[in-house]
Amino acid sequence: MKTAVVTGGGSGIGLAIAHRLRADGYHVATLDLRPTETEFAHTADVSDRTQVQAALEAIRAQLGPVTVLVNAAGLDGVKRFGKLTFEEWHRVIDVNLNGVFHCIQAVLPDMREAGWGRIVNISSSSAHSGQPFMSHYVSAKSAVNGLTKSLALELGPWGITVNAVPPGFVDTPMLRKAEAANLLGGTIEEHIQRTPVRRVGRPEDIAAACSFLISEEAGYITGQILGVNGGRNT
Ligand code: NAD
Repeated sequence: MKTAVVTGGGSGIGLAIAHRLRADGYHVATLDLRPTETEFAHTADVSDRTQVQAALEAIRAQLGPVTVLVNAAGLDGVKRFGKLTFEEWHRVIDVNLNGVFHCIQAVLPDMREAGWGRIVNISSSSAHSGQPFMSHYVSAKSAVNGLTKSLALELGPWGITVNAVPPGFVDTPMLRKAEAANLLGGTIEEHIQRTPVRRVGRPEDIAAACSFLISEEAGYITGQILGVNGGRNT
């Protein structure tokens, strides 16, 4: 049985991905800031290299080599660019981009050894459209898309595929928090009316795309940014 690690697996999209991969038959370990009650839930800050390495060592000891990685941990932030402090900029880049760097480097030896691997990075549709007052977040997520494409070219010869899924508008605590703070430019209901498939995204929609990209039959798909957004971006 293959072992998968899902970062951000304590909430929202990451949690749904962890459930889905378990149902697909993988051993699944999660890595998140907040502890969950799930078996194989590890508490770590993805931006902290030492914590990531320690969690990965514990996961390997429990479940064996890790050949599937989904990077779903994310931190958003809303602030006018001129008011953004370097510390705020840096924290958002650190979690959303540097965290992906640390986690991929931590699992790469296992994938190289196996001659097989699947990496899926959860970026954001804002990297496609831009988003006012989220310049740090959009910069980080755009870089994740770039990293995805570069690593697909670099790791392909070792049997490792690297793809990104940029969610658009998915009903999670992150989205509800943004709605409550009046940051969405309208209510979720109003956004639904502007979404071609006329509903908000579900974490399970993103999980289904990840499940496919990780599957054996998706082995010829790499370096792709697969939008799962009800047609909001095409
Ligand atoms: P969420 O807030 O429900 O879940 C994010 C999880 O990441 C949380 O459990 C949180 O504890 C964890 N996390 C945050 N910082 C961390 C860190 N430093 N180390 C480890 N874990 C950390 O949000 P979500 O909506 O499920 O978001 C999942 C991913 O999807 C994120 O990368 C987010 O940027 C992206 N995304 C979501 C939407 C959406 O509409 N919900 C849209 C675009 C992108």
